[in-house]
Amino acid sequence: MYAEEVAEMAGRIRDEDIALVRERTSIAEVISDTVTLKSAGGGNLKGLCPFHDEKSPSFNVSPARNVWYCFGCGAGGDAIKFLMDAEHLSFVESVERLAARAGIQLRYVEDDRAAPRTRPHQGQRQRLVAAHAAAVEFYRAQLTTAGARPAREFLAQRGFDRAAAERYGCGFAPDAWDLLTRHLRQQGFSHDELVTAGLSRPSRSGTLIDRFRRRLLWPIRDLTGDVIGFGARKLFDDDDGPKYLNTPETPIYKKSHVLYGIDQAKREIAKQGKVVVVEGYTDVMACHLAGVTTAVATCGTAFGSDHIGVLRRLLMDTDAVAGEIIFTFDGDAAGQKAALRAFEDDQRFVGRTFIAVSPDNMDPCELRLAKGDLAVRDLVARREPLVDFALRHVINRYDLDTVDGRVEAMRRAAPLVAKIKDREKRPEYVRKLAGDLGMEIEPVQRAVLAAANGQPAGEAAARARPGPAAPAVDSPQSMVEREALKLALQEPVLAGPMFDAVEAAEYRHPVHQVVRAAVAAAGGAATATGGAVWIEQVRDACDDLAAQALVGELAVEPLRIDGEPDPRYVSVTMARLQWGSVTGRIKDLKSKIQRINPVSNKDEYFALFGELLSLEQHARALREQAAGGL
Ligand SMILES: [Zn+2]
Repeated sequence: MYAEEVAEMAGRIRDEDIALVRERTSIAEVISDTVTLKSAGGGNLKGLCPFHDEKSPSFNVSPARNVWYCFGCGAGGDAIKFLMDAEHLSFVESVERLAARAGIQLRYVEDDRAAPRTRPHQGQRQRLVAAHAAAVEFYRAQLTTAGARPAREFLAQRGFDRAAAERYGCGFAPDAWDLLTRHLRQQGFSHDELVTAGLSRPSRSGTLIDRFRRRLLWPIRDLTGDVIGFGARKLFDDDDGPKYLNTPETPIYKKSHVLYGIDQAKREIAKQGKVVVVEGYTDVMACHLAGVTTAVATCGTAFGSDHIGVLRRLLMDTDAVAGEIIFTFDGDAAGQKAALRAFEDDQRFVGRTFIAVSPDNMDPCELRLAKGDLAVRDLVARREPLVDFALRHVINRYDLDTVDGRVEAMRRAAPLVAKIKDREKRPEYVRKLAGDLGMEIEPVQRAVLAAANGQPAGEAAARARPGPAAPAVDSPQSMVEREALKLALQEPVLAGPMFDAVEAAEYRHPVHQVVRAAVAAAGGAATATGGAVWIEQVRDACDDLAAQALVGELAVEPLRIDGEPDPRYVSVTMARLQWGSVTGRIKDLKSKIQRINPVSNKDEYFALFGELLSLEQHARALREQAAGGL
């Protein structure tokens, strides 16, 4: 977008065009660019709110009504408002972004009250993004020139052909002081815009020069695919700058949030529920090309809590549903230190964190080059829980052939085990640690307890609460769902057919849904004969750790009935479970009906009303079944 158009943009967009943009925009698609949404029933969608920090989704999208709203923080609006809030765009910029997406040509009203031609900040983001888009084209073209040979060789030596370079938009900053700057000035970008974008900087003599010179460049994109900065690799020995240079902090480039490759990886991250964090641009490229399509890298900074926030929203990582974060390290001390630091930072996050260290101390790019795509996929598949990695790291520093060495290793490792928030996992790690050290379980257990008690009182209180993966055990719906799952695990012969007839969607808690789905994946409760083998089959069918732990727990938790369970108890339990989900749906439906104007939306009103009547009938039947003799 160039100067004349921008001046025109300052005019007002015609109202009917704004209405058309609203009508033609799929709100679910727009929001899905940055927030992973899943079904919330009744055609609605939900996800983790991007506007406040939350652990369970209260951010709702209603595609039918073209609105979004967050029960947690009260934010809400249409697609235009979403872009304004989420991307910090002005109203006009948001409408323009959506119009471009929907292929609508906007018309502007000339404002003859002589509004100032240039409004500060209006459209700034769009101008900076446009400058980057033009810079990407410029640098790409430079990559084919004679002077760029070292850049092409650098890529080729790392196993990247021309198609790969093009897919990632690689470019070359030429050996010149102000070639890009002059090119962009000719295209209408102002001195200030180029400085603000971080593409140019004033020289000592005061003239404007290019920020990047004689370097291989990777465009860095945001979640929506807009280029917001560059990473630049040194190519020449006489370049005395650092190995990597990045765009400085700008209004659109915040390095604490930026993840290289996120635009290409986001859909796979959401789909697979995992993300692979690598260390560099070439590692992201190598991983994607090798089939590890969920790889991203931080840009010139360590992985931090803002990055976790971005990823958690994509992973839908809630208290109940755990996404996996896998770090790859080339085995050097710095990488290992970074991994151990994650252990310090966030206990919630630790249970879902895995480490993949290449045995030959190669990064994914080197590994792909030396051993091929399969080796890269293997590296990620062989990941190890962070806790295991940290314990091994500590133990390896001591000579376990001596008593002193074993005791010292135990003293150092015990605090790590004591820190594991997920209490059910601790005995398992005590046993593992004892085994690794070649010691009896009791002294290790005592050391862990001592370490746990040595922590401040607040920590001890926090540890007394149930693990983060489990939903509140004491809500009536949660209790009845647990009871149903216990019946399927402990009494499959009795409960099988009735249990199998109630679908996973009827369960309110995501982790319960995962276990319910695992029962189905293991062949269904009706086909099972029970016992340890059955429990193992269900556990193996769970694709997340929290659900696996829950299966172990529910397999042994006593049923809430005195004496032996009978078919009536199963029937009542399953009816109460469905009753909870049906009444929830009725409540949602009633509130939806209240918000509809029955005059202007007659068809929708009657459709919803019909749905409500049949749900209420279903609820009455369930209530009778649930009352069955209790
Ligand atoms: Zn919110």
